[in-house]
Amino acid sequence: MRIVRQLGQFASPCIRLVAQGVVCLLITAVAIACTGPLAATPDGDTSAIDGHGDGQTQELALAETTPGRLFHLDLGEIALDPLTGSSKPVAFSLPTGTASAAVTTSGPTGVHLALLRWQSGGGPYLIVPSWLAGPFAPALCVDGCTFRQAERPEQQVALAPNAPLPVNLAGKNEIIVYGYTWSTAAKRLPSGATVRVTVDAVLAPPLSKGRLSINICLTGAGGITAALAPNHARIAEAVAVVREIFAAIAVDIAVTFVDVNAAQFVRHDADDSDITELFKSGAHSPLGINVFLVQELNLETDGAPQAMSGLSGGIPGPIRQRGSAQAGVVVAIKLQPGQPDRLGVAIAHEIGHYLGLFHTEEPPSARGPPLADQLTDTGKGEDGNLMYWSPQAHSKVITAQQAAVIRQSPWLDLD
Ligand SMILES: [Zn+2]
Repeated sequence: MRIVRQLGQFASPCIRLVAQGVVCLLITAVAIACTGPLAATPDGDTSAIDGHGDGQTQELALAETTPGRLFHLDLGEIALDPLTGSSKPVAFSLPTGTASAAVTTSGPTGVHLALLRWQSGGGPYLIVPSWLAGPFAPALCVDGCTFRQAERPEQQVALAPNAPLPVNLAGKNEIIVYGYTWSTAAKRLPSGATVRVTVDAVLAPPLSKGRLSINICLTGAGGITAALAPNHARIAEAVAVVREIFAAIAVDIAVTFVDVNAAQFVRHDADDSDITELFKSGAHSPLGINVFLVQELNLETDGAPQAMSGLSGGIPGPIRQRGSAQAGVVVAIKLQPGQPDRLGVAIAHEIGHYLGLFHTEEPPSARGPPLADQLTDTGKGEDGNLMYWSPQAHSKVITAQQAAVIRQSPWLDLD
């Protein structure tokens, strides 16, 4: 997954980050799936809560999407201030017992999104606005975020917690959304777009075991179709590796093969229009994380494109969605010269990102020591971990703290 390139003029923010020594894999590491949006209408039991946006108080329903475990809250459409790119504070309440919450923001094509601020449970700030002046901004919030978040174009998810740090999410939460676009001169411009914000909350302890559904979305790359895939030796081997990796933490992987009408060659560039178009092609798949297999995934550079093994639609990706802008992961099936086949590890690695895992540490850079994740048991620099920044054929280990993030994911179902 390592991106190596000749540095020249920087045409995109991603490239500029590489030039600065911040690896695009931070973003790269970030992409995932295909699905239609969650039903906006509450289903099953609902409990009324108070919420308000733009200064108006309204009754909002916390919709139960998975009985007793996962709840969904639609905060509606929110306008960003074109002068600052920021929304007004938007408040919502989460019930006692909330174990984790994911805030998803969706906006127009080309608008990059992240949370500018998040105050939890009427208490401390989980995200402080000063992060935008930080060294990894706007790609990644490190110092200003109790729990790390990565920006994405068109659709972004911020998750708390994604590390074993104390947090109280119950009670009043308040967020401010931030959006921007890139000018042709690679300058960040505040966006005045209207965005939609939803919240998914898990109100139960992490599962000790569970089932994770994935859809392997076939673009026709390699001549592989949904009908052929189950008996395709390389695909079968990759699926076996994915199952082996997650079985080690008692997560059973359920696989569905789906044909999609999408490009087989995609670029990873500043606005990721190829990627979002790819992910949107997966709206018809069943509930599960969409894993798109393409022939090639290339980082757009000023020089020759750089081959990438995979990309996730977020860290984490959109919750229980298919067909939205960042709903999926993409993995290239083209074997690079002299490289072993790591397709199964690459798929599992991107799923790891999609469920909320960052690299154990980012690659060395001229900026200083590599940026490490917020977990204490991931063995920084050890290439045996699934989330090693450049996954190898043997990069299969998921640590206890990484497993805790996965077991808390809204994607995990009772087995
Ligand atoms: Zn990665």
